[in-house]
Amino acid sequence: MFYPQNIKCAVCGKDMFEENRYEICSGCSLKANIRFCPKCGRAVGETTIYCDDCMNHGRNFLQARAPFIYEGKARNLVHRLKYGGERYLAKVMAQYLADEYYKNNWCVDIVTYVPMHPKKERTREYNQAYWIAKELSQIIKIPLVTTLTRIKYSENFAKLSRSDRFKEAENSFVANDNFKKKKILLVDDVFTTGATTESCSKELKKKGALEIYVLTFCTGMCKPELY
Ligand SMILES: [Zn+2]
Ligand SMILES: [Zn+2]
Repeated sequence: MFYPQNIKCAVCGKDMFEENRYEICSGCSLKANIRFCPKCGRAVGETTIYCDDCMNHGRNFLQARAPFIYEGKARNLVHRLKYGGERYLAKVMAQYLADEYYKNNWCVDIVTYVPMHPKKERTREYNQAYWIAKELSQIIKIPLVTTLTRIKYSENFAKLSRSDRFKEAENSFVANDNFKKKKILLVDDVFTTGATTESCSKELKKKGALEIYVLTFCTGMCKPELY
């Protein structure tokens, strides 16, 4: 029998002897996103169903989901892919996204990704969202299509407040017409406030997308004070 060799856990780097298609050993399990807003998929506390944002503002996507919370080991994996260029991690992440896709019974026509501004992509040399989307598209056998171009150069959103993120993300993307009347799965690495995915979704909707679903590897907590 063929037994895969040299498989190492993507988190701790130790050899894996157990059968595990995720390439993450059982000792390194990531923090699963269990209680989440049914709309945007962000982690919520015990007392709410929908998060504040989804209660108070509309969303242009139908549903967003993420298997993990953006902290600890999961956050570290995202950073290694995003800043360290460890491309194989995109495949590891895509496996989890594929499971999430099937679990939610979505049925989309194309997979697409959040683009980087060309200037940023030239310095960074790759777009991690594209890598994840490409791997996912191969696993679920749904074509990967480039639908958006980022026309506004933004610095990192990390330091901005919620409303500033939404303001900054506004009108950042222009869509082509490769997807009219199609159901779209939009892929990114992390969903924080949703400002970026919201801006992408709005533009895709405007240009004739039928339905938009969002998958990210990690998501934020919408009410951190409850934890
Ligand atoms: Zn491990
Ligand atoms: Zn929500």
